[in-house]
Amino acid sequence: MNTKGKFATRAVHAGQKPDPSTGAVMTPVYLTSTYVQEAPGVHKGFEYSRTQNPTRKALEENLAALEGGDYGLCFASGMAAISAVISTLNSGDHVVSGNDLYGGTYRVFTKVFERFGISFDFVDTTDAEAVSQALTPKTKLLWLETPTNPLLNITDIAEISKLAHEKNVAVAVDNTFATPYLQEPLSLGADLVVHSSTKYIGGHSDVVGGAVITSDKSWHERLKFIQNSVGAVPGPMDCFLLLRGTKTLALRMERHSENALKIARFLSNHSQVSKVYYPGLESHPGHALAKKQMRAFGGMISFELKAGFEAAKKMASQMKVFSLAESLGGVESLIGHPATMTHAAIPREERLKRGLTDGLIRLSIGIEDAEDLTADLEQAILNS
Ligand SMILES: *Cc1c(COP(=O)(O)O)cnc(C)c1O
Repeated sequence: MNTKGKFATRAVHAGQKPDPSTGAVMTPVYLTSTYVQEAPGVHKGFEYSRTQNPTRKALEENLAALEGGDYGLCFASGMAAISAVISTLNSGDHVVSGNDLYGGTYRVFTKVFERFGISFDFVDTTDAEAVSQALTPKTKLLWLETPTNPLLNITDIAEISKLAHEKNVAVAVDNTFATPYLQEPLSLGADLVVHSSTKYIGGHSDVVGGAVITSDKSWHERLKFIQNSVGAVPGPMDCFLLLRGTKTLALRMERHSENALKIARFLSNHSQVSKVYYPGLESHPGHALAKKQMRAFGGMISFELKAGFEAAKKMASQMKVFSLAESLGGVESLIGHPATMTHAAIPREERLKRGLTDGLIRLSIGIEDAEDLTADLEQAILNS
């Protein structure tokens, strides 16, 4: 394994070595469920593909190197990765989580794991005092998302990790929005990094996947046990697609961030736009912190139109380059209306309390030409 070099080098090389039997430069798709043994129990480290698969191993090593971690484990989806982390806990354990959270994470915490006796509290993790007060002697895990979805709030990973560790609480960061190119939670003190690799890691909206990365051997062993016992593993073809994705992650994140900053500036100067949420803007409350803990500000933007709900809905269906769709992180630009799409499951009152208004629009900025993207937004705003 080559874990040396700077990010873009590791992205191309870590975990990848020419196939020993043929010299193939790219890791083959090992479509096999089982492996021949020389004698009972004598094998090359692969027995059965739920437990180990060479294509998955290459991806796991690649992602670990990108996050600066010692161990990576891949799962069939982001939700499977998140569920694996929570499955290491016991009935009676308590988790403190951010309150501006991916909807599916909120759902699996409250609708699945609470039934097994694990309890969850949701707090504003941008407020260290609120986090500190929520930690109890039963708290085993602190769950962070930064930047959050869709309001792009920024939590200080180093400060919150320190505070949690003083009370022996482990810290997990869902790094889906930032990716390891923009932010390395493990180096900031987190114990676990979780991904929906469906988004920027894959980057082409053609695969669903998840991952957990850590440098803590005991966490790795517990998670590896869950991965093999529960069995929510990705197939080798999915791992191959994700490995193809990570090779260009650095390039893509540069372009996503560059385009998004241009578009956030365009929107914040627009007469029909009342509010823009983008951590790269000086006006964003988390700007200074984002500048400190991130390399650039990412590809996600949210904004509000002055004309409100109906105009927002109309705008979202008038786009020509942007596609109206859920998800994010692909090369193509997407537009979404959280109140009726990604966040419709959250009761309206709860949504409004968090600042997630009916008129809010979310953009996942792709890697197209920024001028075409701005022109598309301009025509749609004029026609709504
Ligand atoms: C999409 C997403 C998830 C869930 O991942 P899936 O791959 O869809 O299961 C978790 N967290 C965040 C921040 C996401 O955007």
